[in-house]
Amino acid sequence: MTIMDRVLTAGLRHNSKRLTRFEGLTPSESLPPPDPDREYMLYLHVPFCVVLCPFCSFHRVCFKEDKATRYFKSLRQEIRMAHDAGYRFADIYVGGGTPTVMPSELVETLNLVRKLSSINSISVETNPDHLTPEIMDQVRDAGVTRLSVGVQSLDNDLLKQMDRYDKYGSAEKTMAALELANGYFETLNADMIFNLPHQTDESLLRDVDIITRQLQISQTTFYPLMSAKSTRRKMLKTMGSVDFNREGHLYRLILDALPSSYRASSAWCFNHGGDTTDEYVIENEEYLGLGSGSLSYLQGVLYSSTFSLNHYNRQVANGRFGISRHQALTYRDRRRYFMLMNLFGLSLDKKVAEARYPGFFRTLAPEILALRTIGAVRDQGDHLVLTRYGMRIWILIMREFFMAVSDFRDLMRHAIKEELDAPGPLQIRVPTSELRPPGNY
Ligand code: SF4
Repeated sequence: MTIMDRVLTAGLRHNSKRLTRFEGLTPSESLPPPDPDREYMLYLHVPFCVVLCPFCSFHRVCFKEDKATRYFKSLRQEIRMAHDAGYRFADIYVGGGTPTVMPSELVETLNLVRKLSSINSISVETNPDHLTPEIMDQVRDAGVTRLSVGVQSLDNDLLKQMDRYDKYGSAEKTMAALELANGYFETLNADMIFNLPHQTDESLLRDVDIITRQLQISQTTFYPLMSAKSTRRKMLKTMGSVDFNREGHLYRLILDALPSSYRASSAWCFNHGGDTTDEYVIENEEYLGLGSGSLSYLQGVLYSSTFSLNHYNRQVANGRFGISRHQALTYRDRRRYFMLMNLFGLSLDKKVAEARYPGFFRTLAPEILALRTIGAVRDQGDHLVLTRYGMRIWILIMREFFMAVSDFRDLMRHAIKEELDAPGPLQIRVPTSELRPPGNY
């Protein structure tokens, strides 16, 4: 890790934590009314998985059929509530967990949204063991245009360390399943992880080669390994310790090894032809998240839904949305968030930025000067674009941002244990030390 990486990491860690200090909502607070001229991106969270991987810090719980059936019912009810409140949707992203854990429930949910809004695209996450013709036919018929598969690695030793080999399939099985799935959807994405504890250069280069040259998957995403406080001990036991010093080197290996037919659409997503991206947060400044543990960003405010499935079901049964915490972004942070997400997608349109936030470049002059000085961005006509070095810097920025979100999830999961079993609004006791105001920034 270079000195620049260290300085950036320290600063980013502080700022990312500051952005994810959500505060509780009062019982009278709810989602803001939608902009009637706007169609939104809808994020749906399905938090069930058959096996919980040790490195994963997403909001996920062990699959139980009765729990999941009840949850999908609540999710559909919350979708109807959003529609009644005036929200209209153009695109859907279903994340998890494993959204395909009950395909018929997922299909019923997608069909409901399609009935209520005119939908352009649907993206769904899944695992390799669900790449069967039965499941793929069902979700394709429900309008899914992009299927994103959590492959993580095609090294059997690493899959065993991640506890994925037995349940989600060996490298050989996964390769055969990907071959079958490629071409089924407009976009098939293979999610891969780099900087796993025992991942060698050779193992990573083999993954790049199989995904892009042998299988020619239409899209692939190489995420840096992220961890949360809660997963660190389990990861250490099963997978070993993460060495962030290797991250830059491994990222450069990936960039150098990708065939020229793959074009970057974000700092970590690469497309074989086409240019769809893996991150809905890049293309949609605002989005509505429904379901337990989902996040929304609306009118400069980040919202988080309750992480307790019981509380979520109760809220929806009482005609209330699942949101339980929020964080209003400051004037400056809204502009920073806009720049962060646009440059994550490699390019910021200067005219669009000024039109959206008048005085954008004046307000963020120090940040942009710093990025120019270190060579992370350059001007290209009306755009500010990330350089190759800037892509590396953005990997670091996004890793810190998502790790702060993961730490927030930890906090919420911990708080669920404190849930008081009384009817009515959930009372969560969060240690006050975790909610202290940010220092001077
Ligand atoms: S990595 Fe995927 S399958 Fe594993 S626990 Fe996380 S969401 Fe579930």
